[in-house]
Amino acid sequence: MPADHSDPYAFATLGCRAGTTRSSERENSDPIYATSSFSFESAAQAAAVFAGAEDGNIYSRFGNPTVRAFEERLAALEGGERALAFSSGMSAILSVCMSLLKNGDHIVCSRAVFGTTIGLFQGVLPNFGVTTTFVELTSLEAWQRAIEPETKILFVETPSNPLTEIADLAALASLAHANGALLVVDNCFCSPALQQPLAFGADIIVHSATKYLDGQGRCVGGAVVGRAQFINEKLFPFLRAAGPNMSPFNAWVFLKSLETLKIRMAEHSRSAQEIASWLEAHPKVRRVHYPGLASHPQHELAKRQQRAPGGVLSFEVEGGRAAAWRVSDETKLFSITGNLGDTRSIITHPATTTHGRLSDEDKRAMGITEGLLRLSIGLEETSDLLADLDFALSRV
Ligand SMILES: *Cc1c(COP(=O)(O)O)cnc(C)c1O
Repeated sequence: MPADHSDPYAFATLGCRAGTTRSSERENSDPIYATSSFSFESAAQAAAVFAGAEDGNIYSRFGNPTVRAFEERLAALEGGERALAFSSGMSAILSVCMSLLKNGDHIVCSRAVFGTTIGLFQGVLPNFGVTTTFVELTSLEAWQRAIEPETKILFVETPSNPLTEIADLAALASLAHANGALLVVDNCFCSPALQQPLAFGADIIVHSATKYLDGQGRCVGGAVVGRAQFINEKLFPFLRAAGPNMSPFNAWVFLKSLETLKIRMAEHSRSAQEIASWLEAHPKVRRVHYPGLASHPQHELAKRQQRAPGGVLSFEVEGGRAAAWRVSDETKLFSITGNLGDTRSIITHPATTTHGRLSDEDKRAMGITEGLLRLSIGLEETSDLLADLDFALSRV
């Protein structure tokens, strides 16, 4: 897949080097600028920087060198013009909505998105006159039918959570643009190491940096990547006014993590592929959802759109909730948590945790059954993970 940016360096090089600036101390690793504000040489310089006539740092709510380094590195990796960092993935999504939408506007969103995104679109935005229609991710016809004259955003997450369905990004970008809307992609599951939605025509990328961008389960953070004009004129003024900014410490953690993003994502994918194939052949497993399997309905599309299938898969165990909980409890190397994208493998029962607040009808529509388990494959040795799953399944 082409890297759609003008930078001459390849992805791995950008991951290690983009955004780095050295201070007068000549440090080799990026420093943390743990300061809330910045000082000026003189009253006249302060006035010039405040007026925008001179470049300079003012206050860390809207400008900090460590946060900026993370933003520049992520923008380079996504092939985007500019990025802004946020306190969480949700504040990144909220900020995109607040900077693009007004009372009366409408969003079309794939049904199988992160549960809290549904909570934001369904429970919060209607208070401000913004409504959302949820559609079947893989049906272009459903997206088309849901578009109204007031539709400003098509919002999609691909691969979806937890069933790993794949949306056709190029087709959705064309549909959005033909209707005067923007395509916003939550690129959390793939990260730019595996998928660069801007290259397929998407307008805005949102990230939960909490997941693979950190990749080690330490900090909560988010980011938005897009055109400089949108970020400078709409998103940055919202960030400055509302303050959902990322802390310098978290930015430093994420910045360091981007240096290993490419090799981590390759290994997560390699191991997940092996585990998905093994599960598919297991007699107690009814079905495995993983884009890297030939049995996946959008396997070919995933191959065109992603460099690798990613580290998340889900599978349905025979025996419903009791069997799924048993498998969770009998594993030793899979942490029971709702997070994903960690070096440590994770097992989640979506129906009673991440997607537990959805109505039974919504769960049915999304295919979240009682026997479904989601795995986020970490960086432990694959053979140890397989032995652990083999034992857990034998206890059902
Ligand atoms: C976790 C997650 C979010 C929300 O990010 P936070 O950092 O937890 O606020 C959004 N989208 C996806 C796909 C996620 O997995």
